[in-house]
Amino acid sequence: AKIIQADFVKSSVGTGDCPSDGLPEFALVGRSNVGKSSLLNSIVRRKNLALTSKKPGKTQLINHFRVNDSWYLVDLPGYGYASAPHELRMDWAKFTKDFLLNRSTLVSVFLLIDASIPAKKIDLEYARWLGENQIPMTFIFTKCDKRKKAKNGGKRPEDNVNDFQELIRSSFETVPPWIMTSNVTHQGRDEILLHMAQLRNY
Ligand code: GDP
Repeated sequence: AKIIQADFVKSSVGTGDCPSDGLPEFALVGRSNVGKSSLLNSIVRRKNLALTSKKPGKTQLINHFRVNDSWYLVDLPGYGYASAPHELRMDWAKFTKDFLLNRSTLVSVFLLIDASIPAKKIDLEYARWLGENQIPMTFIFTKCDKRKKAKNGGKRPEDNVNDFQELIRSSFETVPPWIMTSNVTHQGRDEILLHMAQLRNY
């Protein structure tokens, strides 16, 4: 699973506007600041490819990156900016939801969860929503290197991951696959590429 080439292709305002060459896609979603850009750059081994999607005005768009001319990484708008408890639900842009529900070339959604803090309710809700809609997903735990005891109640990343898994187990018949990652140690990078290759060959 080698990355030979990775290019930003385009920003789209809706599913109908997305590339139509039929190549398989993996969508990255997660709360803002979860480490999505870092992960994207790490997967394709580029320092700042994901800068493209951080440009003002592009953060609320669907950003396509073509890898090895054979598949796409799709950066979807982050969620969880709003702090109001009941904006939790479906406050992410309507087109994101439309993309997730209707995009036939979408192989799997990679839901990023910050392992350095206890998972947020909105992460769980997002996962459940994907599950209810039978959208295939993989959990990508980010920042697995990070230990800040005082700040996160003494929990280690492994503990946070276990706590989240337990919540998932109670609402999923089949627990989705998960991968522990760190952009600092590069833990999980090869595993993600291998996992994507396996999913593409189904
Ligand atoms: P995004 O908003 O989801 O795109 O998140 P970024 O990729 O910009 O990362 C948000 C912050 O988390 C930045 O300060 C990163 O340096 C930091 N970060 C991202 N990945 C990791 C990681 O694996 N380990 C640690 N310790 N920090 C990380």
